[in-house]
Amino acid sequence: MFESVKKAFGGVFDGLRRKGLLSQGDIDAALAEVRVSLLAADVDYRVVKSFIARTREACLDERVLGSMTPGDQVTKVVYEQLVQELGGPGSKGIAITHIPYRVMLVGLQGSGKTTTLGKLALLLKKEGHYPLLIPGDLGRPAAYQQLQKLAADAGVEFFGEHVDTLEDLLRGADRFAREKSLDVQLLDTQGRHEFDAELMDQLRMVVTMYRPDDTLIVLDSMMGSKAIPLSQSFDKVAPLTGAIFTKFDSPAQGGAVLSFKDSIGKPVRYIGVGEHLQDIEYFVPERHAARIVGYGDMEGLLKRYDDAEHRAKATVIAKKVQTGKFDLYDLRDQLLEIAQVGGINKMLDSLPSNVLPKGAVVDEGIAKKFTAIIDSMTDTERRNPGILNASRKRRVARGAGVDVSDINRMLKQFELFSRMAKMANNRHAGGFGFPGL
Ligand code: GDP
Ligand code: MG
Repeated sequence: MFESVKKAFGGVFDGLRRKGLLSQGDIDAALAEVRVSLLAADVDYRVVKSFIARTREACLDERVLGSMTPGDQVTKVVYEQLVQELGGPGSKGIAITHIPYRVMLVGLQGSGKTTTLGKLALLLKKEGHYPLLIPGDLGRPAAYQQLQKLAADAGVEFFGEHVDTLEDLLRGADRFAREKSLDVQLLDTQGRHEFDAELMDQLRMVVTMYRPDDTLIVLDSMMGSKAIPLSQSFDKVAPLTGAIFTKFDSPAQGGAVLSFKDSIGKPVRYIGVGEHLQDIEYFVPERHAARIVGYGDMEGLLKRYDDAEHRAKATVIAKKVQTGKFDLYDLRDQLLEIAQVGGINKMLDSLPSNVLPKGAVVDEGIAKKFTAIIDSMTDTERRNPGILNASRKRRVARGAGVDVSDINRMLKQFELFSRMAKMANNRHAGGFGFPGL
């Protein structure tokens, strides 16, 4: 899967990474190659167009970070855009939010529906659920036995009564599931073609009768870009909530996988990676994006990037200290950042333990209080904290609803902060974005 895109991307980024400085021309030339390789892999041209435009913009927005090569930075940008293209970060398996939960698989004959249903049942069972397999493909007698065998192999329940109509089957299965307290029903359906009006009408009826919580289209990775218009046709009759790409173990181009989220608006949820019952995986955009950009240690690259960004911020502050431009506005920025990153403890984890000065107060509540104090000051006071005499302090304390002693503590912290930023600058380390608060 993705072999040709991977190969083309690999060449582009290797070239970029060898360069010291990238010009706009270098980036455009690289993106032109990326564009060609995506089109060659059968990614929808509209998807390619918006992908390239977004990536180009993101490249332009990048700040130069001293310790990262420009090639690494472009690699990181393209990786992030690919993750978006593949459906955003995190895998998105079905979430069983109520009982009974109903799932059905649709798609062409031979796409892998019945096999995938068995795989999904086993996966859900492993996750602690009690699935029921329902043989809703009444078109082919063999489909019944096929699913029955899969249920036995997976060790899950199967509603095996022979019934004449789909309506009877669904009603019987629902009763069976309730009696046995099974929490998720998985319905197989007959393979149908988008151009077969009669079968598509039938599918509409199945949706009405079954009222699925999830309708997943099963797509053979080998069918290429035709998967997109096919999904669009199915979506009109049986509104899709996602896709499962089967035969991911094949040498397919993967263009449809890259186009799916953008074209259908729903994520790829699982992939089939072989013929065996356990050959199903969650679709993880980060993993595939990393493979496509062909960077061995993407996690390491992202971490280096974070560190570099952190350092760049610290350097800006340190420069301000040196030139005497460091003021309470900067302290306030730091306090807000602490609030944003979700708690001071997380920030602390990223700091070497020895940077925390003695007597540093580490408390989110205090960070909030200090922010309130700074908010109650005039612009002149924030820029020149030295002018805060007793009467000014009393006024600010009233405004912020704190004691004058709190203001003194905040000012002490401000001094400490300035000192540490200066130290960081002298060491050229700048390995922290803020001192202890
Ligand atoms: P259906 O007609 O849509 O129900 O398709 P089936 O479930 O009967 O599968 C058709 C064929 O595809 C079978 O031979 C399966 O073993 C095979 N198949 C399904 N999923 C995968 C997969 O992820 N990888 C591989 N290699 N073969 C698969
Ligand atoms: Mg089948």
